Amino acid sequence: MHTYVKTMALVAAFVTTLTCAAKTVEVASPDNRLVVKISEEGGALSYVVNYDGQAMLTKSRLGFVAEFGDFSKGLTIDSSTISRVDNEFDLDRIKTAHVHYVANELKAYVHNNIGSYVVTFSVSDNDVAFRYEVPRQNRGERGCIRMMKEQTTFNFSDNTTTFLCPQSDAMIGWKRSKPSYEEEYALDAPLTAKSKFGHGYTFPCLFKVGEVGWVLVSETGVDSRYCASHLSDYASEGYELAFAMQEENNGNGTAEPAFALPGVTPWRTITVGKTLAPIVETTAAWNTVRPLYSTDNKYVYGKGTWSWILWQDNSINYDDQVAFIDLAAAMGYSYTLVDCAWDINIGHERMKQLADYARSKGVKLFVWYSSSGYWNDIVQSPINIMDRAITRKAEMKWLKEIGAAGIKVDFFAGDKQETLRLYEDILSDANDNGLMVIFHGCTLPRGWERMYPNYVGSEAVLASENLIFEQHFCDVFGTNAMLHPFVRNAVGCMEFGGCFMNKYMHRSNAKGNVRRTSDVFELATTILFQNPIQNFALAPNNLTDAPKICMDFLRSVPTTWDETRFIDGYPGKYIVLARKSGGKWYVAIANGTDKELSINTMNLPFADKELVDCYSDDKAGKPTFAEVKYKKNAKLRVAPLSGVVYVGK
Ligand code: CA
Repeated sequence: MHTYVKTMALVAAFVTTLTCAAKTVEVASPDNRLVVKISEEGGALSYVVNYDGQAMLTKSRLGFVAEFGDFSKGLTIDSSTISRVDNEFDLDRIKTAHVHYVANELKAYVHNNIGSYVVTFSVSDNDVAFRYEVPRQNRGERGCIRMMKEQTTFNFSDNTTTFLCPQSDAMIGWKRSKPSYEEEYALDAPLTAKSKFGHGYTFPCLFKVGEVGWVLVSETGVDSRYCASHLSDYASEGYELAFAMQEENNGNGTAEPAFALPGVTPWRTITVGKTLAPIVETTAAWNTVRPLYSTDNKYVYGKGTWSWILWQDNSINYDDQVAFIDLAAAMGYSYTLVDCAWDINIGHERMKQLADYARSKGVKLFVWYSSSGYWNDIVQSPINIMDRAITRKAEMKWLKEIGAAGIKVDFFAGDKQETLRLYEDILSDANDNGLMVIFHGCTLPRGWERMYPNYVGSEAVLASENLIFEQHFCDVFGTNAMLHPFVRNAVGCMEFGGCFMNKYMHRSNAKGNVRRTSDVFELATTILFQNPIQNFALAPNNLTDAPKICMDFLRSVPTTWDETRFIDGYPGKYIVLARKSGGKWYVAIANGTDKELSINTMNLPFADKELVDCYSDDKAGKPTFAEVKYKKNAKLRVAPLSGVVYVGK
């Protein structure tokens, strides 16, 4: 839970050492390799993060400024405790089905002439999570706080390079709907490079610390009691933690978060690895958060179709939706997503009829809404329903009555606390009506897979729609696709809406933007891009014009995973990733570069000569399928923008 007292109660094995006033306190991971040191110098607090004795984060600031005083100056560390955290939990929607979080948790009790607080660092073998815990102040008189600024920074050595997505200007883009985490990354950029819009970078942020290792910075446990934050451009003491921008939400609402005391800030997470495996496999987003409500509803994940991606706005009519329900049924999929303007082109009355038809085919509907509201100029309807409890609850009651599986809510206002409140309110009301929720045009989820039991996934990425909008995004898709497992998708479910079997990004499959990636590369993305419900970019024509082996694969590929194992790769270039589901390993190998790749098959999770299904592209780029005897130590050649998929038996 989110409150100070309950978190303390949840610490399982409680081994405490209390120290007296100190200038420096430190905590090591259970394996002793990851060490965080907090220091007080001249009344200011800082921290460093070392791995095997080498600096991963250099001296970085701690502290914050409240509306009633500066909690970053004149500080004394009064005492500290270290206790063992040992939590195990199941989660059916992320990269792994079971998490066992073992960490050492340092609490540094600090005060100055304004008041007191606790800096908590929870350190597991590859993840650091830290936050500020603020008790009631002024001998219990003060029961609330407005955070004017966090002094928190993340600093790195000069030879660090960055893989970062810029924070957009507010109120720009389609119908002034940004920011929505849909910008292009700059890869292997210098530490001090200026961000594209001058507003810094959105979480998660990936850093390559010279030849020493990798660091992924993000945050989790962000709910209605705080804003979502991002990193500033590099400043003299590192990247500063930055709140939502004042211009977001059309300038309405405060940029500074506020909460009741005792209360806490969100966990900021730092994942550290000598290789990229701890980054790709991290569960930092879920380790330290708790479910915010329980549910009696049984939510079922799976695959879906959606007409909008290839057939666009004009397809949101009754007959075209029937065609996509039939496609879902033909593929054995559970869902069809009915996108924007259904209220006008189909209407509430006939939506019930459509839902009944879908049910007769074993398919349930997801139904699209705009979140707005006063915060953008969106014309796609329905609008002005999800932004208010009164209209939202009535609509959700109706959705429950027609048997909808869930909603997709699009075009949010940004990262201010009031928008975080809206996400939470939508999720909570939807759960009351047995509805799952997908967000688009939105912020990064921050631990929500565990916090909200009916949360499914978020866009918060340059998703499949851009391949339809501009040839440029088809041309750079190889690079972009090879980023997500290392960055965006490493900390949260990603509703990408991809896997095209069309060669052309158009209803006709005869004109429009040209897909550059091979069919097997596309199949690989279904394993690489993780979301518990996958709305694939298929269209009815693919039943006859796409290779049968690909369509059969797309019928059977799972959407939930028991385990994820990183094998090889480099952000923006290539990846070899294994995920296990139902006792079978699925190995996706994809080459996003324009050069042939040679992969050593040594570390794949198969035994030598084990029989596996193999999907690969032939010399002409045509997908092939064969049952093969797996060769343990072979060189596998993968053509540019092509892939190989192995499925165990
Ligand atoms: Ca979008």
